[in-house]
Amino acid sequence: MAYQISDDCISCGACAAECPAGAISEGDGKYVIDADACMDCGACASTCPVGAPQEA
Ligand code: SF4
Ligand code: SF4
Repeated sequence: MAYQISDDCISCGACAAECPAGAISEGDGKYVIDADACMDCGACASTCPVGAPQEA
């Protein structure tokens, strides 16, 4: 299972800077997680100010 970013994302970019796998990139209107690269560490969820990354 990988984390996914919900539509609550405000595209602040904080999670991308914290991801040790480099799995997060800016998408269309929100940031997105590459499920194949995500290691389920939870750093993005801990960093996000709006709680957008959630375990799928
Ligand atoms: Fe990156 Fe960890 Fe979030 Fe997966 S759970 S996207 S590895 S910060
Ligand atoms: Fe979106 Fe949260 Fe990542 Fe900011 S930290 S880009 S609001 S998912």
